[in-house]
Amino acid sequence: MDKIILSEMDANFKNEIAAQPGAEHFKRCFTCGTCTAACPVAEVNDEYDPRKIIRMAILGMKDEVLSSDVLWMCSRCYTCYALCPQGVKFTDVMGILRDMAIKQGYVPKEQDKNVRELDKFVQDLRCHLIDGKLHPSKDNEKKISEMINKELNNKW
Ligand code: SF4
Ligand code: SF4
Repeated sequence: MDKIILSEMDANFKNEIAAQPGAEHFKRCFTCGTCTAACPVAEVNDEYDPRKIIRMAILGMKDEVLSSDVLWMCSRCYTCYALCPQGVKFTDVMGILRDMAIKQGYVPKEQDKNVRELDKFVQDLRCHLIDGKLHPSKDNEKKISEMINKELNNKW
């Protein structure tokens, strides 16, 4: 993150978020980092940090948050939601941020639907991979390879 110029921030952004159902306790975040430490996406992607997203939102970095690709990386697993000592409900906050990003024109309106379909595909692929490891066969390999190729050709 480069230098932050407070006069260029949107001071009302945090209130806009906190006014939405599910984000009532969002401003209580005290940056303990429990969400980031437990997040399965943060474990594999250094760019993804729920604590940082909340901090940026509280600081009023609206454009940066709503246009960021990391907004779409969350797998909605609810781990952070269950563990936050401040009741922030980050999974719900993510849903609100995505909704704002679409409604305010930061991303195409199909983005949420596309990401949800991709999440389903990833779960399906995971099940097939586990099955393929437990029961190796040419049929399983072919099926997995077909699934991946089909998804690669599915352009957004
Ligand atoms: S676990 Fe809760 S309080 Fe701690 S950084 Fe994450 S959102 Fe903030
Ligand atoms: S809901 Fe999203 S941010 Fe929270 S732990 Fe799961 S993947 Fe990470």
